[in-house]
Amino acid sequence: MADDLEVNYEEEMDGDIDLENVDQTNLASTSNTGAKKGNYHASHSAGFKDFFLKEPILRAIVESGFEHPSEVQQECIPQAILGQDILCQAKSGYGKTAVFVLSTLHLLDTASDDVTVLILVNVRELAWQIYKEYKRFSTHLDNVRVDVFFGQVDRKLNIKQLKENKPQIVVGTPGRIKDLVESGHLKVDKVKYFILDECDKLLEQLDMRRDVQRIYQRTPFEKQVMMFSATLPKQTKEVCKKMVQSDQVVECFIDDERKLVLHGLVQYYVKLTEAEKNSKLVDILDNVQFNQVVIFVNSGQRAEALAHLLRESNFPAKEMHGQLPGEERIKRYNEFKGSSGVGSQIRILVSTDVFGRGIDIQKVNLVINYDFPKILEKEKNESGESVATQQQLQLNADQYLHRVGRAGRFNTKGLAISFVTTQDDADVLKIVQDRFEVRIPEMPDEIDPASYGASAMG
Ligand code: AMP
Repeated sequence: MADDLEVNYEEEMDGDIDLENVDQTNLASTSNTGAKKGNYHASHSAGFKDFFLKEPILRAIVESGFEHPSEVQQECIPQAILGQDILCQAKSGYGKTAVFVLSTLHLLDTASDDVTVLILVNVRELAWQIYKEYKRFSTHLDNVRVDVFFGQVDRKLNIKQLKENKPQIVVGTPGRIKDLVESGHLKVDKVKYFILDECDKLLEQLDMRRDVQRIYQRTPFEKQVMMFSATLPKQTKEVCKKMVQSDQVVECFIDDERKLVLHGLVQYYVKLTEAEKNSKLVDILDNVQFNQVVIFVNSGQRAEALAHLLRESNFPAKEMHGQLPGEERIKRYNEFKGSSGVGSQIRILVSTDVFGRGIDIQKVNLVINYDFPKILEKEKNESGESVATQQQLQLNADQYLHRVGRAGRFNTKGLAISFVTTQDDADVLKIVQDRFEVRIPEMPDEIDPASYGASAMG
């Protein structure tokens, strides 16, 4: 959706590269023979030490408070270090980022002045978050240079950064990276590790996919490709497979979607009318114990209006949406994350789907879907009525999963409350419950704070 993009993706479509029909000289064979099916729920239980990561990385892992690798890390880090291509679908909040951050830091040639690691993501906040993870895990490594690039930041600044900092690791969003690559400022011909995070989002939209593809084609044929996402529709999975050396790819899928449900997350819905939403929201904010909350709405305008309304009712809320200037978005992200050096911490964030995926804020233990996910416009049926197609409802169910995943991250508990106003909302809720085999009951009058870990978190 438009909110997700940092460039205007309505550029000319001429010369579009269709991945399905792309020149295969730069792509691996698509045959899947020999592909190893990852056992996501592997019974072996390795520690980080067993991965034989460089000592300074292990030290940073310990300092980050990571005690045991998560399942996805157990499954993928050893393979990534061995140079295998990876296509990984794993639960939101279960440590996908560390898979590629730790393994590429381990593999990095710190003596090089070339960009050897390239990570693409669909939104700038996620790019920023990944950049910070690289910083955190490279604290004790010498000569690691990582930089982040996305739209709305002065291009000249980016060009200066590239010249002076000579990053070996580049994180960015496709529009700006493509721009820097095609203008010759960012050289990707020495890339050894090509990573797509939230790859379904990067590849499902034709225009963003085209940018990814253009960048991909500038990278060397011989490289390691790693792709990650919490959801991976069949069609996108097929596209992904065309970008990896398929005869060696490690597929780490959760075969059973039901396992995608976030453990530790308590979910409720509230049936109400549009007019009742505000008083119910205030009621929840007054009565539910939370550390930090993300309230999702479906447009930037609604985010502005609702945050304003909450401030007027003495709730210290801020809004986050795609129309805010890039620097302001990063500033707010840092304020919400409570990063060192920033002033007061935001506790209540009213956001569109720019914050709906991948964003990891440990203290968020409440997510409210003020607007139920609605990521596509309805189509008109023969009688001229607007109707949502089954595919749209499915996509909205995916988006529900991404949003509520902001609470109940790795080993923490959380609470998700969704406002249901229309039949479409109820239909999507039903899909979520059927598909992920989870029961989402109506919100009771009282919720035990212990059930979502509020008392434990203080
Ligand atoms: P991700 O799914 O990559 O967004 O990670 C979600 C959160 O889990 C982040 O705050 C990570 O720092 C944290 N995390 C990832 N792996 C581990 C681990 N092995 N132990 C503890 N926390 C972790």
